[in-house]
Amino acid sequence: MSEVVPPRSIFHLGSAEQKERWLPRLLAGDIVATAAITEPQAGSDLRNLQTTAIANGNAYRVNGRKRWIKLGGVANFVTLLVVSDRSQGAKGGTTRFFVERALSPWAHEEIDCVGMRNLSFAEIAFDNVSVPQENLLGGPGAATEAFLRAIEASRALVALQAAGLGGHALSLARAYVGERHAFGRPLARFQAVQTVLAEAEAEIEAARLLALQALWLLDSGQRCPREASLAKFYATEAAVRAARAAMDCMGAQGLSEQAGVERCWRDAQMLTVIDGAPAIQRLVAGREILGTPAFV
Ligand SMILES: Cc1cc2nc3c(=O)[nH]c(=O)nc-3n(C[C@H](O)[C@H](O)[C@H](O)COP(=O)(O)OP(=O)(O)OC[C@H]3O[C@@H](n4cnc5c(N)ncnc54)[C@H](O)[C@@H]3O)c2cc1C
Repeated sequence: MSEVVPPRSIFHLGSAEQKERWLPRLLAGDIVATAAITEPQAGSDLRNLQTTAIANGNAYRVNGRKRWIKLGGVANFVTLLVVSDRSQGAKGGTTRFFVERALSPWAHEEIDCVGMRNLSFAEIAFDNVSVPQENLLGGPGAATEAFLRAIEASRALVALQAAGLGGHALSLARAYVGERHAFGRPLARFQAVQTVLAEAEAEIEAARLLALQALWLLDSGQRCPREASLAKFYATEAAVRAARAAMDCMGAQGLSEQAGVERCWRDAQMLTVIDGAPAIQRLVAGREILGTPAFV
C-alpha cells in the first residue's frame, strides 16, 4: 500500500481530535508513517487476515505479523488493519489503528527486493503489543469502506508514478539514440528504433491519461474502482514495457547501472505488485465492467 494511505485513513476514519493531533505532523513529514495491511498468508486475499486486536481495559492487545511493509523498519507510526470480528468477514469485520512505535513497539526484519531500493521493506511483528484505545480509528468494523477509498487513490497514484517512470526511461533512450552512431548514422535514424519508441510513448501517454482520469474522479468526490484498477495494471505494465524497450534501444549501455534505465525497469516491476497484483486489478475492473465478481 502506498504512502498516501496513512493520511487518508486518518482523514476518512479519524475523529476531529485525532485529525488535529496527527494530520499536520503527517503532512509536514514530521511523522514517518506507513500502512500495514498485507500478511505472510494474506496478500491478494485479505479475507485471510490473521492479525487480531483484543480489547483489554483501556487498550487493545495486538498479535500478528505484517509483510512487505514499506518503511516498516524505520516508520514511527503505522496504520494497522486487524480482524475484529471474523464472523463479518473482510467487508465489516476489520478495524484500523494508528499505532505509535514509541508506545507500542513492533519488531521488524528487512526484506531485500529487486527494485525501489531507495525505500526499505520489512516484515513487522506484534507480539502481545498494547495499543491505547485512543489510537483506534473509526471504531470496530469501520475500516473496510475507508480502506477501499484509500486503495483507489493509491492505485491511481501508483499508475501516475508508473507513467512518470516509463516516461523517464524513454527520455534516457531518446538522448542515447540521438548521440550513439552505428552504420554511419545516429541510432535515432533507424526505423526499428523509431517505431519501438513511438509505440512505447503512446502507451505511456495513455497510461498517464488513465491515471489522471481516476484522480479527477477522486478529486470530484467520486469512487473510482474501475478507473483506478484499469489505470493501475495498464500503467505499471506499460512502464515495464517502456523501460524494457528503452534498454533494448541502448544495447549494452542499457544494461549498465550507470545509464539508469535498468533501475526504471526494476522499479516498474515493483509497481506492478504494490497495491494489488495485475491479475487482481483485472478482476476488480472486470467486476465493475460486467457487474458481477469473478473472485472465488
Ligand atoms: C513494492 C511493494 C510495496 C508494498 N508495500 C506494502 C505496504 O506498505 N503495506 C502493505 O500492507 N503491503 C505492501 N505490499 C504488499 C502488496 O500489497 C501485496 O504484495 C499484493 O497485494 C499482492 O499480494 P501477495 O504478494 O501476497 O501475492 P499473492 O496474493 O500471494 O498472489 C500471488 C500471485 O497470484 C495471483 N493471484 C492471487 N489471487 C488470484 C486470483 N483470485 N485470480 C488470479 N490470480 C490471482 C496474483 O496476481 C499474484 O501474481 C507491497 C508490495 C510491493 C511489491
